[in-house]
Amino acid sequence: MKRTRNAKIIATLGPGRSSETDIAELVEAGADVFRLNFSHGAHEEHKKRYDAIRRLEEKYKRPIGILMDLQGPKLRVGRFENGRIRLVKGQPFRLELTEEKGNDTVAPLPHPEIFAALRPGMDLLLDDGKVRLRVDKAGKDFAETEVVVGGDLSDHKGVNVPSAILELSALTEKDLVDLKYGLELGVDWIALSFVQRPSDLEEIKAIVQGRAGVMAKLEKPSAIEHLHGIVELADAVMVARGDLGVELPPEDVPVQQKRIINACRIAGKPVVVATQMLDSMVHAPTPTRAEASDVATAIYDGADAVMLSAETAVGDFPVESVSIMDRIINRVERDRLYRKMTDAARSHPEATAADAISAAARQAADTISAQVIVSFSSTGSTTLRIARERPAVPILGLTPNLSTARRLALAWGVHSARTKDVENFDEMMGKSVRMSKRREFATEGDSIVVVAGIPFGIAGGTNILHIAKVD
Ligand code: PGA
Ligand code: MN
Repeated sequence: MKRTRNAKIIATLGPGRSSETDIAELVEAGADVFRLNFSHGAHEEHKKRYDAIRRLEEKYKRPIGILMDLQGPKLRVGRFENGRIRLVKGQPFRLELTEEKGNDTVAPLPHPEIFAALRPGMDLLLDDGKVRLRVDKAGKDFAETEVVVGGDLSDHKGVNVPSAILELSALTEKDLVDLKYGLELGVDWIALSFVQRPSDLEEIKAIVQGRAGVMAKLEKPSAIEHLHGIVELADAVMVARGDLGVELPPEDVPVQQKRIINACRIAGKPVVVATQMLDSMVHAPTPTRAEASDVATAIYDGADAVMLSAETAVGDFPVESVSIMDRIINRVERDRLYRKMTDAARSHPEATAADAISAAARQAADTISAQVIVSFSSTGSTTLRIARERPAVPILGLTPNLSTARRLALAWGVHSARTKDVENFDEMMGKSVRMSKRREFATEGDSIVVVAGIPFGIAGGTNILHIAKVD
């Protein structure tokens, strides 16, 4: 069960196969973190999957991350008299703030925030961008539009307004209820959807209070405009290409993917590339060449993790999807060009003790060809700084906190494990050597590099680097 790669795999669980045996197969195939998507499914279904994952952690003796994904303010049209209508290019079409059913000339849109933000000339995108309306005239409870791109529109289809910042919190009433539930379950990460501005993160962090990591999903142009402020406040970031690709033209998505990854790499925040990575595998046992290339590109770009959505949540080939991702990542990471690109993209250490030690650990491991960097870190923050260095050897992240070990399952290059607290230097070195051997990172005669803070048990006190020979 030892992983041979650095980048991680997130698998979304859904109504597809998600019994304990199914999840076990995904873990064995390579899933490191599971996403529970709260846009779908009842609390009890999520709890069943949550409990199954925790039992599997025991079985496999490895921490597994659980990412709760909040739906956020997903906007939708209301319903139609006949369930669906057809819109023709050039026709006038009206939107109204009402609960009444719509027809061929008018659709209900139960979101006052949209009307408040609409201005003539703005576009509304319906059903994942398949239908486009341009606003001619707007008031606080109506908008008159012209159909720019026609098509079918049915009940409850999604609405995107790319050019507006909506006066919406990223946390809806439903999200608040879900969030409370997730925190009680003990999820490790919480993904916040449709983040528009840094204050959205302040709002959720005030509630979460460090009980889980907060991941910002970047799926709106306004989030991209506030990229640096958001990266600074988030504990991790997701390039949510599904909705981002609706709100931005397709040619912008790869460019923004690289920009976002780069910003996260500099900040040392884990970054996830998500959506449609192996989309054709929802119905086929092998990926297209373009999909294999897309996964590889995310790895070359420097992502910490790549994510599967429908492929594992509802697909016909969930295990195959994880396996192929595992193979692609392993293949890229063995490429010499990957190492070269990774070294070239490394950012400078910040002026902190943790960064000084992390950079030195990476350098020392290189110089003496050590087999592993062992990091003692109760909060995991130093372990993440070592991951930021993208060392050529694995990082064994030891922590007395199970929640830290689970959270680190997302981070590039980190193999995390919970251990009992160590009390002195000799104990620390003994444990480092024993764990490196037990986890098959090093054998007799190998060197290891150990990073820790003394005195033990004080967060933020990283101050030592020690080299040891395995006996
Ligand atoms: P979703 O988020 O799957 O919750 O929509 C990811 C995305 O938009 O890419
Ligand atoms: Mn989305």
